[in-house]
Amino acid sequence: MKRTEFILQSLRQNGHRITKARRALIKALLRTKQPVAALELHARISKSKVAIDRVTVYRELKFLADIGVVHPVNLKDNIQRYEIAPVSGHKHHLVCTACKTVKNVNVACADLHNLEALLGKKNNFIVREHSLEFYGLCAHCA
Ligand SMILES: [Zn+2]
Ligand SMILES: [Zn+2]
Repeated sequence: MKRTEFILQSLRQNGHRITKARRALIKALLRTKQPVAALELHARISKSKVAIDRVTVYRELKFLADIGVVHPVNLKDNIQRYEIAPVSGHKHHLVCTACKTVKNVNVACADLHNLEALLGKKNNFIVREHSLEFYGLCAHCA
């Protein structure tokens, strides 16, 4: 089954409606290789001739984030971006500070569990989650 259908099916199973806008948004998110901002998503969906207004895009992104289908990604520039959540866990990113290109990077969350446990122990703190972004320059900008 294609990823789009898989996501739509799980929405249906949880009693959520599949609107044209919702389907278009999920498709557009799956097509992007990197986290994308609401305005950019709105522009891309409009190009594909699906009528959708900005308010709907914001509302849908919030809804999809609340139910865990998308993850919000914060890259320190005050623009909220989103990406489709992977089947399990989350992604880690390499962020180019010059051109804002974002690449997913293969750091297993499990590799951070020792660090989480250590930090927890040292600080008497229960670590529940983490996000991991690396900032620098891509090959094109360096
Ligand atoms: Zn760059
Ligand atoms: Zn992780």
